[in-house]
Amino acid sequence: MAKYALIITEKPDAAKRIATALDSRGKPEKVEDNGVPYFLASRDRKLVVVPALGHLYTVIQDRGGRNYYPVFSFKWAPRYKAERRAKETQAWVEVFSKLSDDADDFIAACDYDIEGSLIGYCLLKYACNGKESVAKRMKFSTLTKSELEKTYEEPLPHLDFALIEAGRTRHEVDWLYGVNLSRALTLSARRWSGKYATLSTGRVQGPTLRFLVKRERAIGLFVPKPYWSIHAEAEIKGSACEVEYERKKIGRKAEADKVVQDCRGKAGKIESIEVRKYQQRPPIPFDLGGLQTEAYSLFGYTPRWTAGIAQRLYLAALISYPRTSSQKLPPAINYRGILEALGKKPAYRKLTSSLLKREKLTPREGKKEDPAHPAVYPTGSLPERALSDQEKNIWDLIVRRFMAVFGEPAIKQSMKATLALDGHHFYLRGRQVLKAGWMRFYKPYIRTEEVLLPPIEEGEVAKLRQIAREDKFTSPPPRYNPSSLLKKMEEEGIGTKATRADIIQTLYDRNYIRDKRIEVTALGFDIAEILHKHCPRVISVKFTRELEEKMEQVRAESERRENVLVEAVDRLKPMLEELKKREERMGEALSNAVKKARMEERIVGNCPNCGTGKLIILYSRKTGKRFIGCTNYFNGLCKTSFPLPQKGTVKSLRSECAGCGWPLVEVRTKGRRPWRLCFNPDCPRKEERKKYGEMRDLRERSN
Ligand SMILES: [Zn+2]
Ligand SMILES: [Zn+2]
Repeated sequence: MAKYALIITEKPDAAKRIATALDSRGKPEKVEDNGVPYFLASRDRKLVVVPALGHLYTVIQDRGGRNYYPVFSFKWAPRYKAERRAKETQAWVEVFSKLSDDADDFIAACDYDIEGSLIGYCLLKYACNGKESVAKRMKFSTLTKSELEKTYEEPLPHLDFALIEAGRTRHEVDWLYGVNLSRALTLSARRWSGKYATLSTGRVQGPTLRFLVKRERAIGLFVPKPYWSIHAEAEIKGSACEVEYERKKIGRKAEADKVVQDCRGKAGKIESIEVRKYQQRPPIPFDLGGLQTEAYSLFGYTPRWTAGIAQRLYLAALISYPRTSSQKLPPAINYRGILEALGKKPAYRKLTSSLLKREKLTPREGKKEDPAHPAVYPTGSLPERALSDQEKNIWDLIVRRFMAVFGEPAIKQSMKATLALDGHHFYLRGRQVLKAGWMRFYKPYIRTEEVLLPPIEEGEVAKLRQIAREDKFTSPPPRYNPSSLLKKMEEEGIGTKATRADIIQTLYDRNYIRDKRIEVTALGFDIAEILHKHCPRVISVKFTRELEEKMEQVRAESERRENVLVEAVDRLKPMLEELKKREERMGEALSNAVKKARMEERIVGNCPNCGTGKLIILYSRKTGKRFIGCTNYFNGLCKTSFPLPQKGTVKSLRSECAGCGWPLVEVRTKGRRPWRLCFNPDCPRKEERKKYGEMRDLRERSN
């Protein structure tokens, strides 16, 4: 068999795209071996393009069982040996091994960043039997044909070892922290109670939970203070305009009442008019964090969701690599070429052609840089398949942001007229765009609206049409949402662009937090408290950030992986000794927290019959059957109970039935969508639902 070049890619979609771009006829042959797809392409020579499935290798414990800590010895191994859920990856590793036998050239073409470089490295080293030292590296920021062809012709002569070392360091350090700290928690709880519960914390997870707990506490301790404000409307040139009283907050009610008394029904004069013209510069290009923030505020997508959509757009060659922290757009990406290509879409034609008329295109840029990739930009390719609405939104946002960064500053004007009335002052504010500049490109996503004022002149008389006192309370600090939490992590320098969104998800998965406006659960509170009390360094932000900086230095080749690992172990050791010493007390506290959390999950709501008890999910001692009963049953005060379905899992929903106001539970059974159940036998909705159900049954039967 003729020898070939083996090209390693990160995922099947990327493999297909790379094979299609490199094949001289654009039609690579797809082969499937034991469920693993790969592609045969021919160019100057035969190419075999094989996808990984993300990480196929991971850090595992070198020897010994799972029931102790500390553990400091580890090795890299195929994921299928470590994780039950990764069984399918065995076939992939085997296919790589087999294909490497007849290859005489090895090229890593995974995403160009820490994770991608590490994925390629592990496959070359372990599956291909030590080819990491001879392999070449394709470096690219988009999956467009032109860029892929170019980097294939001119690859880097060897792997990017700085990125790989940084990746190894991160995975190894995170493993050391994750496995030891989580075991300390889980084992101490189990030794105390004899019961098993998965409790986890990690190097970044702990400090992140800490931010949330701090905020939660500030909200809990917040005492709203009353204040008063004035709402008023004036009549100017026959039209009613809202005016703003000079003091936004008035500390005493009597004072506010006096303002109303003094001014009601009176007329005053426009004392002065201030007009201010100012420029607003174009926005800066998106890095991943910027895109996530904007998508959350415009569309309500969580950062993790946005990252997923952006990844799909990248695989469809519509945008450049999204996991970047750069806010720069180098000229090498060819601004004109991209704009010309985007102009083929009628919706963008007018906008792109106005930019292309310019002699010189200079983007506004932000400060942040990324050694591997530029900021997120559209490649200019148009969709080859129908995009989902969400993909369309994100793509359009990226395209418009890209155009906007080349725009001219917008010129705006603000106006403030002061109405003097018996010693009181009211302001009229207007806002107007004089020249749209970059805003033309970004129009659908601009949130501030213009407020046009009637033409007013100094000395003009205006009468108050309406004035009233408003009673208000100061509000507590806002809850974090996934987007603002991600920003906070970024500001504090913990986690990376690739991991932050997943860490937030882990906190949800562990039941430490819930809801979009993030609320810390009792369990989350307790875990953070226990860690804070018994080992504050585990959740120290400063400590986490320092380690983060060290790992960045590995990437910049000013620090060695070995040193960082030694340091990590040196720091971890005393923490673990401390935890060990306190194992008993911690175990008790953790066990109670878990018990409380499990109880909380079972509470459904207040008992509608006795009013003082709580309805909880119970199991009959005789039959083992599940039902809902009142806690007052145990002291003989209330016998309220309701049957529950016996299959699947039942969970409290913490929301109420729209028909009767009773609490709802969620039932999940295998192979069915979760459904909401109102267990009130007299619920008015029951009848409706029955009818609907019968209709559906009929329909299903007739199909
Ligand atoms: Zn009751
Ligand atoms: Zn109901």
